[in-house]
Amino acid sequence: MCGIVAYIGQKNACPILINGLKRLEYRGYDSAGIALFDSEQNLNVYKTKGKVSDLENFIKDKNTEGKIGIAHTRWATHGEPNDVNAHPHYSQSKDIALIHNGIIENYAPLRKELEKRGFTFQSHTDTEVLVNLIEDIQQNEKVDLFEAVRIALNQVVGAYAIAIISKKEPYTLIVARKGSPLVIGIGKEGDYYIASDATPIIEHTRKVVYLDEEEIALVQRNTDICIKTIKNEEKTPYVHELEMNLQELEKGGFNHFMLKEIYEQASSIRDSMRGRLHPETDTISLGGISDYEQKILRADRIIIVGCGTSWHAGLVGEYLLEELARIHVEVEYASEFRYRNPIISERDVVIAISQSGETADTLAAIRLAKEKGATILGICNVVGSSIARETHAGVYTHAGPEIGVASTKAFTAQVTVLTLLALRLAQLKASITKSRFKELAIELESIPEKVKQLLKNDEQIIKIAERFKDTRNAIYLGRGINFPIALEGALKLKEISYIHAEGYPAAEMKHGPIALIDEEMPVVVVATSQRIYEKVISNIQEIKSRKGKVIAIVTEGNQQIKDIVDYIIEIPCTEELFVPLLATIPLQKMSYHIAVMRGCNVDQPRNLAKSVTVE
Ligand code: GLU
Repeated sequence: MCGIVAYIGQKNACPILINGLKRLEYRGYDSAGIALFDSEQNLNVYKTKGKVSDLENFIKDKNTEGKIGIAHTRWATHGEPNDVNAHPHYSQSKDIALIHNGIIENYAPLRKELEKRGFTFQSHTDTEVLVNLIEDIQQNEKVDLFEAVRIALNQVVGAYAIAIISKKEPYTLIVARKGSPLVIGIGKEGDYYIASDATPIIEHTRKVVYLDEEEIALVQRNTDICIKTIKNEEKTPYVHELEMNLQELEKGGFNHFMLKEIYEQASSIRDSMRGRLHPETDTISLGGISDYEQKILRADRIIIVGCGTSWHAGLVGEYLLEELARIHVEVEYASEFRYRNPIISERDVVIAISQSGETADTLAAIRLAKEKGATILGICNVVGSSIARETHAGVYTHAGPEIGVASTKAFTAQVTVLTLLALRLAQLKASITKSRFKELAIELESIPEKVKQLLKNDEQIIKIAERFKDTRNAIYLGRGINFPIALEGALKLKEISYIHAEGYPAAEMKHGPIALIDEEMPVVVVATSQRIYEKVISNIQEIKSRKGKVIAIVTEGNQQIKDIVDYIIEIPCTEELFVPLLATIPLQKMSYHIAVMRGCNVDQPRNLAKSVTVE
């Protein structure tokens, strides 16, 4: 995820673009860049690693004249955050400059094909492939830029919001989108403001056109916007009047970043699978670790290390990897692992999980394991982070920047990546049948849609939050793969609402915690259909006999549980192994609503930091 801004009009573009980037910095901030046409029609591109303020410094003594321009703040997905990988990207001839938000899934075969045709590449990005593809088409088919973009976008698989300028058509700006957002603001003086969201636009105009999926727009000063689909159908722009204020816009209309990020999960889970999961061809490709797959299969064991929410994702991973790939897995708190002289050999594979990729204890744990000769893999969200650099290989989660301190979408993205990894290893090892692989791959692909459905259910969760907002304690229970979900549910409540909460494997209740149950105690139970569902029902009965208040997460349509428990929250039916991806979400929402009702600072809870870079 990154931020894009563009301007075409009669004003100086540079300050408009830089201010726009500053507004979008919450979408990504590892590098930034700008491309401008000067009055002699030179196409100048300036870009640098770092924040928008670094770009501002960098261009201080440069020629930043120009009334047409595009600018970008990056959150890397392909290629480290550095000057070369920063956007805008030039085409080979330097005639075209392009900025992009999204992922071009088929960039590798396209790049190979273009290399055969004589193109050379400067960066490691998927984006540079797209700009050269457009140039190649323009050169071969002798079409204008708009048509070349349209043809190119028909060859591209993936997600994009793009803005393009070309020396050959210096009075034209072309923008398009699929999967990533893009808004066109209609200025008062025949000028246009384009951006990933309306935050950079609102100070200039409230009239906007939201581009739809697979639409391309031709934008020229003093001329109506012309929109076509990539299939060449003409569209009439629909002009909206913006009603939100700046702060509301930044949070996508949500009251907090955390809530926005909870709602982003349908797309962030899809982005974690993008270009990796292909049920139609029975393939899962995890490019980052492909050279290490055989080593993982031969490993004595996999040790997963992480802290907090990432440790919970590791516990789900243990279940998935052992169940599907039949590989021995151990999950360790990084902070404990590093200090207890662990027994590690070259035959071990260590997987480090961290959203930021900077978690101090996790970093120390992998350094230790590396010294002892283990193979180290990373699952991180931030491209080019310390953990990503110090591991032998890894898989990025591609969840986009997470701003809320309490992790939500990064957790489900970590679980998604672990699910892909377990399935891929199971396939290589033939520890599941081909038909089972297909079944699971198809179901996994449907998860984002099920998350979308699930996110609509708010009423019931708000009712439950109302009822329990003043509780002092809560217990969360789950069994099997849902035990870590109980832990994660309890952690979310603790972190943002400051209510004491504990997660337990449901059967452990009778070994101590059941003593806490009275008519005041809320007990959240993940009771979806699973192998030991009947046992979970018995655990619920034990709580009810002690008058505890039970909130059960159940599979849609479950009639049996309704009469036993106090509240139910339904989630769509899925494979038992994928329940964590769904069951987590109502628990995140419940914690969120309780915290808001208690007046807590949801995005920045007391005493917590987003990335724990101290030991
Ligand atoms: N895939 C592009 C890159 O890695 C764009 C990333 C983004 O959307 O932030 O540069």
